[in-house]
Amino acid sequence: MKILVVAAHCDDETLGCGGTIARHALGGDQVYVQILVGRTNRYLVSRGYRYNQRAIDRVKQAAVKAGKILGVKEIFFADLQDEELLTDLTTSVEAVEKVVAKIKPEVVYMHHAGDGNQDHRGVFEATLVAVRAIAKNSPRKVLSYEVLSSTEQVTGTPSRVFVPNYFVDISKTLSKKLQAMKCYKDELREFPHPRSLKGIEALAIYRGISCNLNAAEAFQQIRDLWYT
Ligand SMILES: [Zn+2]
Repeated sequence: MKILVVAAHCDDETLGCGGTIARHALGGDQVYVQILVGRTNRYLVSRGYRYNQRAIDRVKQAAVKAGKILGVKEIFFADLQDEELLTDLTTSVEAVEKVVAKIKPEVVYMHHAGDGNQDHRGVFEATLVAVRAIAKNSPRKVLSYEVLSSTEQVTGTPSRVFVPNYFVDISKTLSKKLQAMKCYKDELREFPHPRSLKGIEALAIYRGISCNLNAAEAFQQIRDLWYT
């Protein structure tokens, strides 16, 4: 099977579905990752925003290393501007459509619709268009993943809360996910920040126990088409 993971930033693919990517790869599936943001937003930099271009280049190298650990076949960097995936949705859609046409994936993983990060929501909206059922090369299965430190930051807004209905056993690949996450030194924080190694492990265990597993990754199913 060909799998495509669409992510806004480097590290989202590992946080959202690193264990599942490793499972796919171990099972012989070809996993591709597309990361949309690769250019810093000049307006934000002028206001002292910490993400400068060197940091983005560094995190791209970390993504390549993490991808190797997880068994990713290829990473596509769209190099779009940070904080603009949603406001320049046409460009985001074009970028995802291009990779979908190239890979023709059967399964696509993308961000959650109500995520706390606007670029994550941009990926959801763009991918939803790119993988619509009537589109050419439409994948049969589409799932949304959660990203610690942004997806869970929408408390008090029930319509945006991530409600998983699809779980993947990552008991055997959680260690790979944590190892891959260690490549992202600049992105990791100290516990109890959710984007800490302990926080990532805690979520995996929590998602696991909700379906009688040692560790799991949770998804929201957007489409699952069974055909012969
Ligand atoms: Zn992100």
